[in-house]
Amino acid sequence: MKRKFLGIDIGGTNIRGKIISEEGSTLGERKTLSDAHMGISRLMENLAGFIEGFAGEGVSAIGIGVPGTVDRASGILVQAPNIANTRDFPFTEVLSEKIGTATPVFIQNDASCAALGEYRAGAGRGSDSMIMITLGTGFGGGIILDGKLWPGEDGFAGEVGHMTINPSGPICGCGARGCIETYVSQVAIKRIVREHPELRKRLAGTEESALPERLAELAREKDQAAISVWNDLGTNLGVGISILVNILDVKTVVVGGGLSGAWELFIGKAIEEAERRCLGGAQRGFQVKRAALGDDAGVLGACYVAETGLGERS
Ligand SMILES: [Zn+2]
Repeated sequence: MKRKFLGIDIGGTNIRGKIISEEGSTLGERKTLSDAHMGISRLMENLAGFIEGFAGEGVSAIGIGVPGTVDRASGILVQAPNIANTRDFPFTEVLSEKIGTATPVFIQNDASCAALGEYRAGAGRGSDSMIMITLGTGFGGGIILDGKLWPGEDGFAGEVGHMTINPSGPICGCGARGCIETYVSQVAIKRIVREHPELRKRLAGTEESALPERLAELAREKDQAAISVWNDLGTNLGVGISILVNILDVKTVVVGGGLSGAWELFIGKAIEEAERRCLGGAQRGFQVKRAALGDDAGVLGACYVAETGLGERS
């Protein structure tokens, strides 16, 4: 019998699920509210109910992308900064008990899932190795080496947002100063606008989540202050890309996430700076590509996590 895989992506607002066949075609998808802000027990209740909705589908394995650091082998969610009470939470054990089936459950960090999705079905298709950078609230990432997600020895690999680019820069959510996330992310844009008297005035009353879009509109209207924010953001992104390419010698860099909506406002500077700083320069031939799957990358990647997990077990 042909196998089917259920992939689930847990976001701050929604839980999304997708079933794919062995050949990779989508057989069904659904979503529900996650209520992740209400803590881990509520989230687990919602998740179990959601999975039970797929009970008649006969899936062979379930892969779940979670917004935090995971220990894949034990199924423990080590930490999830945006979900209360999740330190060392036995995620797969609790979930399997709740759903009461023997279907194997595998978890993976959500940014890593998005990287896997883009690698197999999106902008990274056809490459051997790939670095994925997700510019959303923060600066996330995932590293694929020789066709496999590189989890790191403790499962923490791909935390590219905490590369230090200025040791005396702004304080990051991780506690350190000057991580690239404090210069290239939605959080960074919020800070930059707050510290800029003119932009602060022009964007007064804009909701935090709408700031990048409004700032992009201003830049497209030729507002010099806004243009310069995107230029700086591009330059800093280029610094980050050059660090990763110099260390890993990977030819494909995929950039996605909410901020990539302003793509044309920052990507030129990013490529210019990355080529300037990469040993061998532009002749290295690395490519910076725009992510192709949008929100679908994470949930599709979670399907692949199910497939890979089952493959490793048998
Ligand atoms: Zn940091």
